[in-house]
Amino acid sequence: MFKRKTREIKIGKVKIGGTNPVAIQSMCSTKTSNIRATVAQILKLEKEGCEIIRVGVPNLASARAIHEIKKQIHIPIVADIHFNADLALAAIESGADKIRINPCNTPRSGLIKIITAAKNTKIPIRIGINSGSIRPFKEKITANDLIREAKKQIRFFEKHNFRNLVISLKHTDVSETIKAYRAISRLYNYPLHVGVTEAGTLINGISKNAIAIGNLLLTGIGDTIRVSLAENPIQEVRAAKAILKALNLYKKEPTLIVCPTCSRCEIDVLKLSRELEPRLSAIKKPLRIALMGCAVNGPGEAKQADFAIVGSRAKGMIYKKGKVIKIVPEKNLAKEFLRIIQ
Ligand code: SF4
Repeated sequence: MFKRKTREIKIGKVKIGGTNPVAIQSMCSTKTSNIRATVAQILKLEKEGCEIIRVGVPNLASARAIHEIKKQIHIPIVADIHFNADLALAAIESGADKIRINPCNTPRSGLIKIITAAKNTKIPIRIGINSGSIRPFKEKITANDLIREAKKQIRFFEKHNFRNLVISLKHTDVSETIKAYRAISRLYNYPLHVGVTEAGTLINGISKNAIAIGNLLLTGIGDTIRVSLAENPIQEVRAAKAILKALNLYKKEPTLIVCPTCSRCEIDVLKLSRELEPRLSAIKKPLRIALMGCAVNGPGEAKQADFAIVGSRAKGMIYKKGKVIKIVPEKNLAKEFLRIIQ
């Protein structure tokens, strides 16, 4: 798929922009100062596929905690700072791999100190503009407002000779988000962190993000994504992976094609899918796997898949590269299918 060429930047050991794959981010919901809880959450997110983690830094204890958290995790950590530049300096001193600031709410004098510290430690800064933080507050914020603010902020960073930047322009509205990212991608080649802000609860939030992120990635825009959800962040990572898989941009796990089932179904597809999905995600290869209830669309999908199950009278026909290689009674189907794939 076409991808706009952006500057490559390094966040710890993860590179984004350039020709690198789109990286999945999430944000901890724990108090960062609670080191044990934060590490436990990050380790679960890593296991799920999170590649960059952001933590809120509302106080000095959180900034200092980064030092200890970093020792116990394996992915880069981004310190999220608002209002207080000294917290950014403390987070950098603690070893943060990147700083996310909202320059709209950080004084210019503080920004200069952050720029100097980031230059000295060679870490990037994300300028994160959100529809909720544009000053002055007004009834309707549009993509144009986000762009105007971003241009002003980028100008400031460039004036201070700082280009190790990532940009995000998030709006709660899907159309405004898409407009803002399209416009900024025409103006600069800084890598873009893409997502809809405050997108909402599980189904609404995933839908909004899938439309916005999907639309942008299809036109080559986006270097890293976060599916922001009012949910456990594990769901953010799962949703991000699903969006990337839907666009054939995720190469670390199989993609599962499952028929929605209907009265023709000859095996319990839903039960099988629930059983197979978590186990298949442990296979770190971009296989295409189909799970189909009957012969209506089953053989056709099996032909396009690496492996498939097609239901037939309480049995499953197991396909490999479009050819039936085994017929297995339904009760042994999941186990046998996994054995064959592995
Ligand atoms: S594959 Fe068969 S069972 Fe599944 S939805 Fe289509 S017709 Fe129904």
